[in-house]
Amino acid sequence: MEAMQSKDLAFFKQLLTQQLNELLCTAEKTVGTLVQSGEWAADPLDQAAMETTRTYTLRIRDRESHLIKKIKSALVKIEDGSFGICEACGEEIALSRLKARPVTSYCIRCKTQMEAFEKVTDV
Ligand SMILES: [Zn+2]
Repeated sequence: MEAMQSKDLAFFKQLLTQQLNELLCTAEKTVGTLVQSGEWAADPLDQAAMETTRTYTLRIRDRESHLIKKIKSALVKIEDGSFGICEACGEEIALSRLKARPVTSYCIRCKTQMEAFEKVTDV
């Protein structure tokens, strides 16, 4: 099995670091700036909208912190050399898949099986 090229690792490290920085930056600004959501704009009732905003904020923060964790663990994997290896079967994850979803922990085959059997919605 051929190990991932160091230039690819450098690429993912840079990509993930950049995503992490953006997320950390966005996370700080999330509260009070939620108007980009169509879901939010479509809500006709002010009272309900306020509650929606609150829920929505929490949901975004939840998702952000989840993704931040994922990115951090991917960066750790780059450091310890296990990045790009499927956690389920130990095979290499296709480079094209990693490029589309750098935080993924599973190859497409395992991921597809998991979705079929467990309805996993996570990456
Ligand atoms: Zn796998």
